Amino acid sequence: MELRRFKDILGVKSNEGTLLAFHGRNLEVAEISNDAWAALSPIELTSSQIPRRTLDNSEPQITLQNWEEEINPNARTNKIDTHVRFLTLNVTQICNLHCNYCAAGGDGTFGDAVAKISIEKTLPQIQFFLNRLPSQLGFNISFLGGEPLLYPEAIELIAKYISEHAPQRRVNYNIITNGTLLTEKNVELLARIGATITISLDGPPEINDQMRPTKNGSSSTALVVQGLERLLARKSEFSHIMIHGVFDHNNIALLKAYEFYSQFNVDSYDFSFSISENDLNASQEFMRQLSLVAAQAFEKGGESALRKIRAFEQHFQSLDSQTRTENYCGAGKSFLMIDARNQISTCPWDVNLKNEQVGQGIELNQKSLEAYQKPLIDLNNCNNCWARFLCGGGCMAAHKHGSGYKNIKNTQFCERTRYLVALALVYYQKCRAAS
Ligand code: SF4
Ligand code: SF4
Repeated sequence: MELRRFKDILGVKSNEGTLLAFHGRNLEVAEISNDAWAALSPIELTSSQIPRRTLDNSEPQITLQNWEEEINPNARTNKIDTHVRFLTLNVTQICNLHCNYCAAGGDGTFGDAVAKISIEKTLPQIQFFLNRLPSQLGFNISFLGGEPLLYPEAIELIAKYISEHAPQRRVNYNIITNGTLLTEKNVELLARIGATITISLDGPPEINDQMRPTKNGSSSTALVVQGLERLLARKSEFSHIMIHGVFDHNNIALLKAYEFYSQFNVDSYDFSFSISENDLNASQEFMRQLSLVAAQAFEKGGESALRKIRAFEQHFQSLDSQTRTENYCGAGKSFLMIDARNQISTCPWDVNLKNEQVGQGIELNQKSLEAYQKPLIDLNNCNNCWARFLCGGGCMAAHKHGSGYKNIKNTQFCERTRYLVALALVYYQKCRAAS
């Protein structure tokens, strides 16, 4: 792929030679001529600088300039709702696996092993957030850990509490699990609450068993596959089932993972680059492999197969609805994290970091939260980036791992994000041109 730019217009030449342009504010995609392409200035994926170009008043440049200045009345900005509607709960801070790249202190504990939350402290916290939420707004609880299915009783008690104390409230339950404890009993519980389920799986057994080993050396993948089969036998009872792989320099085989995932009739797949990985070669291979995955998906099943991959689905949705995203996530705005000691932070990566705590129990520190209230594209100084309204300023945890600071961008993250956006634009144009 080759990229060019004129102010907020990005030009993309695909590997097949198709030329397209993307209006970064209006979220419009169009095919362009060779002359228009020539009027754009070359840029690198790593840069968000707007190239300087002297206007020569040629026809293609005037056309570009006019398009750039246009305001699309249909494009709207998704203003984030600052009511806390998304809570993630660590119902336990222990794990039965020992994943190589574990985000939770290397062993699921965040350096503070807690086998079970004190439910008598967690329920009032949930009530506190429910009380602050206007009745028409839905509420979302994600169960995380450690491995949340080591303490399924907490999930059951929380769902029961909400159904008794807020029976009118729309509530979505999500669970992010390593998938090794999806017993009949746990599947029954998750079906009863109509959960959205994200299963961590990094590829076929020869890879996943290395990346996500059990403590006794048996295959974690075999357990995940059994669990997936149990879930898929009752698929209609769940809101959504997704397989999520995390990749770093020890495992960058996205295509192999995709081929393995494809045998399971789940709703979507997600491919993430490990937040704690800063290896440039791995980052570049991640992009290359993702383009292979996209090509294979598109060849096998066109737009619908491509859109089973979460990132493509998100970008296609934003482009179809012409909805600008100003916030990569709702951290500190609509989203908060409660750890197993009932401490509140804005991000799962901040658990147990005292200086990142924004509350405890039912006390919220509004002053600390104020720092999060501006749109992330402003906080992270993204206003020159052509991809800002599809990216939304990026993940603060990824930025921090790359630059040392939440609001100073991680250049590798930006490069991968822009690559993925440009790739999505190429496929978007292909799909819409065909329809
Ligand atoms: S974080 Fe996202 S929006 Fe900000 S500069 Fe990087 S790619 Fe662009
Ligand atoms: S900053 Fe990143 S890891 Fe933290 S909540 Fe947002 S998206 Fe998730």
